[in-house]
Amino acid sequence: MIKRLCIIGVGLIGGSLARALRAAGQVREIVGAGRSAENLQQAVALGVIDRYETDFARAVEGADMVLAAVPLGAMEGVFAAIADHLADGAVVTDAGSAKGSVIASAQRVFGAAADFFVPGHPIAGTERSGVTASFAELYQGRRVILTPLPETAATAIARVRAMWEAAGARVVEMEPVHHDEVLAATSHLPHVLAFTLVESLARLQDKREIFEYAAGGFRDFTRIASSDPVMWRDICLANSTVIQAMIERFIGDLQALDRAVEARDGERLLQIFGDAKAARDRFVEK
Ligand code: NAP
Repeated sequence: MIKRLCIIGVGLIGGSLARALRAAGQVREIVGAGRSAENLQQAVALGVIDRYETDFARAVEGADMVLAAVPLGAMEGVFAAIADHLADGAVVTDAGSAKGSVIASAQRVFGAAADFFVPGHPIAGTERSGVTASFAELYQGRRVILTPLPETAATAIARVRAMWEAAGARVVEMEPVHHDEVLAATSHLPHVLAFTLVESLARLQDKREIFEYAAGGFRDFTRIASSDPVMWRDICLANSTVIQAMIERFIGDLQALDRAVEARDGERLLQIFGDAKAARDRFVEK
């Protein structure tokens, strides 16, 4: 049972955790924090948080658990604002989609020996953002990856694990570098491709009536291009080296496909599409 949970960034991710823990009866009080009162007042009205502060230092006062769920580019500023105001025994965790950059920020601000910081990432979300998009079931059956460091206290890890489990998630642990490689492939590259495809077609749209004839396939493939641009700018900057490597690899594969189309190599096309279909069918079945 968390006595006072402070959520900095009450949007889709932070708001959904608040709702889930409340529904599970695992938190006594939830204090929200953010840049301005508007979003936070809405969060109170929706019953997601009990009260709010726009001063992050005041927000963490007396909290035994603190979650930073702001865009990656804002994490270091949040850590700097709260560092000197944490209660004794408080655990700090985050929900950032890339871990290397958040860990570097935490080490710069909290010091290399900070044992109370547990880096985390819920593998759950939608293309919508803000507290109005949050819902209590978001984490049901979904994975949360924790990437603790050698100095992270076992008790802090256990408390963050228990929090996510109470929200319905399955918690796994991973090396931060491995996390950033895996997520670059499964999440960051697909988002980059969806954004680029839609942006490219939108420019073509000036000349032709492309979107008028777009059907289900286009909608399925491009849903994630409705995600928050700030969040995705920050993810690309935070995990740039790995994402770049994934993009380069993908360009090579796209060029190979292009060559097969140019050569009218139906065998090769059938092989690529067949392999892709088999891989996706296996994934969906799982
Ligand atoms: P979101 O719905 O936009 O919520 C983020 C909240 O952070 C906003 O409601 C905003 O609240 C606050 N915020 C925004 N910019 C800020 C800044 N510069 N300084 C302080 N607060 C700021 O975003 P989200 O989807 O919950 O994502 C939050 C974090 O979770 C990100 O790090 C993201 O990478 C990660 N994540 C997202 C997903 C996903 O699918 N969406 C999945 C896993 C992890 P105020 O307006 O009140 O300031």
